[in-house]
Amino acid sequence: MEKTINCVYQPVKELHSAKCPHCGESYYQENHSYVTAVYYPPIYKNGVNINPNRNTSTTHCTCMNCGKDFTITD
Ligand SMILES: [Zn+2]
Repeated sequence: MEKTINCVYQPVKELHSAKCPHCGESYYQENHSYVTAVYYPPIYKNGVNINPNRNTSTTHCTCMNCGKDFTITD
């Protein structure tokens, strides 16, 4: 059982309305999350950035209702 708590907290609103894919309850503990750290250099064409940041964050959670683990990907 992973007990690591990551202090880098990503306040993404949608993350907290996530539901357990196993039982459907929105009642879970966030264990840790991480963000991919790939640098996407902006490329401007006619004043528009055509190379947007594609980093995603992943949060590992444990359902407090059924006890199963699942991940939320932003
Ligand atoms: Zn569950």
